[in-house]
Amino acid sequence: MQTTMMDVPLSLNHLLERAGRLFAGNEIVSRLPDKSLRRHTYGEFHRRARALASALQRLGLKKGDRVATLCWNHHAHLECYFGIPAAGGVMHTLNLRLSPDEIGWIAGHAQDRFLVVDDVLLPLYRQFTALHKFERVIVFPFSGQAAPEGFDDYEALLAEADPDGFDYAPHDENDPVAMCYTSGTTGRPKGVAYSHRSTVLHTLVASLGDFWGLRGTDVVLPVTPMFHANSWGMPYGAVMMGVKMVFPGPHLHPEDLLDLIQQEPPTLSLGVPTIWMGLIQAYEASLAKDSPHHGRWKLPRGMRSLVGGAAVPEALIRAFDRHGIWILQGWGMTETSPVCTVSYPRAELHGADADERYRRAAMAGVPVPLVDLRVRGDEGNQPWDGKSVGEIQVRGPFITGRYHAVEEAEKFTADGWLRTGDVASVDALGFVRITDRTKDLIKSGGEWISSVDLENAVMAHPAVSEAAVIAIPDEKWGERPLACVVKKPNGAVAAEELDAHLLKQGFAKWQLPDRYEWIDAVPRTSTGKFWKLKLRERYPR
Ligand code: ADP
Repeated sequence: MQTTMMDVPLSLNHLLERAGRLFAGNEIVSRLPDKSLRRHTYGEFHRRARALASALQRLGLKKGDRVATLCWNHHAHLECYFGIPAAGGVMHTLNLRLSPDEIGWIAGHAQDRFLVVDDVLLPLYRQFTALHKFERVIVFPFSGQAAPEGFDDYEALLAEADPDGFDYAPHDENDPVAMCYTSGTTGRPKGVAYSHRSTVLHTLVASLGDFWGLRGTDVVLPVTPMFHANSWGMPYGAVMMGVKMVFPGPHLHPEDLLDLIQQEPPTLSLGVPTIWMGLIQAYEASLAKDSPHHGRWKLPRGMRSLVGGAAVPEALIRAFDRHGIWILQGWGMTETSPVCTVSYPRAELHGADADERYRRAAMAGVPVPLVDLRVRGDEGNQPWDGKSVGEIQVRGPFITGRYHAVEEAEKFTADGWLRTGDVASVDALGFVRITDRTKDLIKSGGEWISSVDLENAVMAHPAVSEAAVIAIPDEKWGERPLACVVKKPNGAVAAEELDAHLLKQGFAKWQLPDRYEWIDAVPRTSTGKFWKLKLRERYPR
């Protein structure tokens, strides 16, 4: 027997048309370089994304051609998210925090044909022009300046294009729509290409009630850059539901974000833990009577905040909860679209005490639908007993099965699973608890010590603002933990006190750091995460 269902390809174009028809009046707000706010509607977004597609085709874009973006989070970047695939192209988001050499290498490797670049990022673009030549460079006048000689002007192209005369490029649901390179903390960056199908499925799954729970009444503040795993897929979800978006532009400093939150209060925000650590510290400092910012901000009670990309310390979850903001933790990677697990209050946890709820929220969470997850130890699959650890491996329709134009056989198992390089246990309720990245684990005298557990416990001390734990070589034990600690501005704490604090939290004596280094800040990667590699270089022993 054959199915009676229509064979209609999953398509981002459907989401774009739906937004234009249903949500034309809803708002998209962008913060400009001069910090003023620019308001657009979904109606304008729909027209402009179609105009962009039409303009790209007129410039000669062919199906499958890569169009790179070098942009902050703003409305025009959102237009690229939909306009480039609508024309049959593949949007390739370049990470503006990488070095010019790396950006140039990545653009060359992806064979990007065109580039859309913010005018304020032209100085960065000029530093890698020698490494890769784009056929056309389209400048988005983010700060209002006209494009210099030799460049195309984004607004001029859109003004000349006819959004009504435009027809979508015919496509299959497996055609690529976007690509993103991993930041390559080990080896060269590797490219992942997402399809219409994978993107639509990921959008549907991530938006479900227990995960993002996206509603039309939401106001979303994506602090996660649109070049970091597609801002975790949120732009697609927001357009699907016509949700008001507030884009922070280039202003990601805690005080800037607090000002923006004050002006356009979000109901949902997303970003890596380091962003929220800075924000909560600035906010709590402003509560002091003698603070110059006293009374300037009020956090929006009831806001949900999606935090992921790195382990979320329980102390951070508790701190936000004190102000009525609940943190949902997610785990995933560029290779997985990215959402694989989300920590949400499962029915079984209703009625659980506060400590238990915080403990669960500090875990990576439960696998989302369509993602198969297993934890592999030396002898095969580990039981979901909350204790046995191994490497997380995943499989599913929005998980990459290979990398663009390179062989990376060791990243995949013979039976077709992605090896994530993350080490975790899973408990009986399906909560994944990440203990480390394979390369960050500390092996002391044959026993593993979780750097993540130690960091989170150190960060729970009231005088500590940040902590990163690395392994240092040790003649007797092989490796020992070294804790790099950033104190709060007025925080005073000594090693002995931190040791006592860790013992009280249940660590054994042999698990305590051998040494504490007091540092000014933990170095950050290009996506704002703690960069332990830099600390390992700084403290080789
Ligand atoms: P990179 O960090 O290399 O730039 P990604 O942004 O793709 O690349 O990051 C994926 C990695 O981030 C995961 O493999 C994992 O190590 C880490 N990560 C993501 N979410 C979490 C989380 N909730 N807890 C711990 N680690 C996380």
